Amino acid sequence: MPSSPHSLRLLRRLPLVFCLFLSLTSRAQQTAVGMSAETLPLADVHFHLMWFMTPQELKERMDKNNVRWVVGAGAIEGMTGVESFARDLEARQLLGHRYLPSVGWMSIRRADAEVGVNRLYTDETSPQREALLKLLDEQLSSGQQAVFAELHPNALTSTTIRQLLRRLPTDAPLFRELYKLAIKHQVPLPLHMQWHPESVDQLGRLLESDRQGVVLLSHCGKDSQAEQIRVFFEKHPNVLCDLGFRSPPQAAMESTQDPARTIYWGEGMFRKAGIKAEWAKLIEDYPDRFMVAVDDVHRWSTYDEVIKVIRTGLLAQLRPETAERVAYRNAVRVFRLKEPEQAQAAPLALESRQP
Ligand SMILES: [Zn+2]
Repeated sequence: MPSSPHSLRLLRRLPLVFCLFLSLTSRAQQTAVGMSAETLPLADVHFHLMWFMTPQELKERMDKNNVRWVVGAGAIEGMTGVESFARDLEARQLLGHRYLPSVGWMSIRRADAEVGVNRLYTDETSPQREALLKLLDEQLSSGQQAVFAELHPNALTSTTIRQLLRRLPTDAPLFRELYKLAIKHQVPLPLHMQWHPESVDQLGRLLESDRQGVVLLSHCGKDSQAEQIRVFFEKHPNVLCDLGFRSPPQAAMESTQDPARTIYWGEGMFRKAGIKAEWAKLIEDYPDRFMVAVDDVHRWSTYDEVIKVIRTGLLAQLRPETAERVAYRNAVRVFRLKEPEQAQAAPLALESRQP
């Protein structure tokens, strides 16, 4: 077919225009993904206020890293002389609706020590257990948006706290009672549970006992494989995952023994930031089930590092819509988080109670 000189010129230029268009769109997509992963607000759903941290320092770090909300998982008392829940309430007082205080971190352990090795969990009842459940119920009713701290049915090889190095039945009487309380107060029950087959069966029974309850798997099962979580998700709609402590630097040591403990990682000397393909696929297939978490850090510089790994190794590897859900949208839904502006407008009950 004859062509005019004009159309020939256009044809010759077309591939270049087309290539330019392609490179522009892919760069635009990269920028959109890269930018959003770098700048998305975060809701950290599993955080331990360490003994050395002041609420003011936490606020500064949150602002610096665009962490909009923090959900307490048990404040560390250390030598502070302040009870765990009271420490969390101090953070709540400063941060308002940006910080959810947590109950049970030390009160459960103290009652457990009093009753004797794990019998607080496995006995059908005890006066200590009744008193504990009453206390937790009151604290969850305090109008402070309190949630459960991390509980440990199976931390046999995954904690530095001696008392918690154990495997208990995940459907033991006390866990059943705590699950009922979680339903009553519409908060998830966060369970640190290594993926032992018996623990998995027991957790299944707990979840089946009432589908209104929600279990939030701390560290998504700690030593679980993506395929195991996929099978479990298919069976149980009422289970969610936090992705805390499943990346270096935090999980570096334990991953040398058990590589399954690492899901994603940041940029290193000889590696790019990334995520295991089977985990990325699982998160994309279940985008409403996963949330980010910082967990515990032993210095503030590690806090910044962990956030960077979350942004580069996890969020930047996901589709932008998925990244947004994992970063904060799922947490807003699950914990009914409020925007910080609303927090300023509503005075805290805690403040008004003070003389
Ligand atoms: Zn934790």
